[in-house]
Amino acid sequence: EKGEDVIATLARSFNGMADSLQSQIKKLADLSEVQQRFVSDVSHELRTPLTTIRLAGSVLYDQRASFPPATERTAELLHTQVERFELLLSDLLEISRYDAGSVQVEAEPTNLVHLAEDAIDSMRSLAESKGTELRLVAPGGHLNAEVDPRRIRRILHNLIGNAIEHGESKPVIVSVDSNATAVALSVRDFGLGMTDADVAHVFDRFWRADPSRQRTIGGTGLGLAISLEDAAVHGGWLQVWSSPGQGSCFRLTLPRRSSGTLTESPLPLPP
Ligand code: ADP
Repeated sequence: EKGEDVIATLARSFNGMADSLQSQIKKLADLSEVQQRFVSDVSHELRTPLTTIRLAGSVLYDQRASFPPATERTAELLHTQVERFELLLSDLLEISRYDAGSVQVEAEPTNLVHLAEDAIDSMRSLAESKGTELRLVAPGGHLNAEVDPRRIRRILHNLIGNAIEHGESKPVIVSVDSNATAVALSVRDFGLGMTDADVAHVFDRFWRADPSRQRTIGGTGLGLAISLEDAAVHGGWLQVWSSPGQGSCFRLTLPRRSSGTLTESPLPLPP
C-alpha cells in the first residue's frame, strides 16, 4: 500500500513537471511567434516611407550631373543605399514568410537547362565587370523537373552572384545533372573558398565570412539563408564543399516530382 502511495505521488509530480514543461515550451513558441510578427510588421511599415525616399532620391539622382561634385556624390550614395535598403527589406519579408510557414511552392514542369541558361545570361554583365567567365555544363535537350521556377532562378542568381563575388576572376562553372529521381544544379568557383569553420555558418542569417570587407559589397547576408529555405520547401537540399584558396561548390539537389522528397543525397559529390 505504501508503495502505491509513493507511485501515485511520483506520477502526480511527473504530471506536474510535464505540464510546466509544456507551458514553458508554449511560452517560447509564442515568443518566437511575437518575434516573427514583429519582423514582418516592421518590414511592412518601413516600405511606405522607403518608397517616398526612393522617389525623392531618384529625382536628385536624375539631376546629379547639374550639382557640384560633392552633392553629386551624395545623390549617388543616397541612390545606392536606398537600393540596398529595399533589398534588405524584401529579404526580411521573405524570411518572415518562411518563418510564418506561409510560403506556397508553385511547382510546374520546368526545363532546368533553360533555367540555368537564363540565370547565366542575366548574370553576364556582372561577370564581365569582374572579368569572370561563366560556363555551363549540361546535357543536351531537356531536363525537366516539377519546381517553382521563380524560386530556383533566385537560388541560381544567389549562388552565381556569390561565385563571381568571391571567385577572384577565375571561371565559374554551372552544371546540371540528374539521375532517375533527382536533378542537381551546381555552381563551382575556384576563388577564395572558406574554412570548415566558415562553412558551418554559411547558411546562417546575416552571417558573413568577413563583415568588414563585405560591408562595401552589396548583399544582405540573407541570400543563402533564403536559398536554403527555397531548397527545403521543394523537398530538396543545398550543400556546400569549400576549401580556402581552392574555391567552393554549392550544389542544389531537387526531387524530379514536386511530391517527392530526398532521403539521402543521391548524386555523387562534384570533382
Ligand atoms: P551575402 O552574399 O549577401 O553576404 P550570402 O548569404 O549569400 O550573403 O552569403 C553569406 C556569406 O557566405 C558571404 O558573405 C561570404 O562570406 C560567404 N560565401 C558565400 N558564397 C561564397 C563563395 N562562393 N565563396 C566564398 N565565400 C562565400
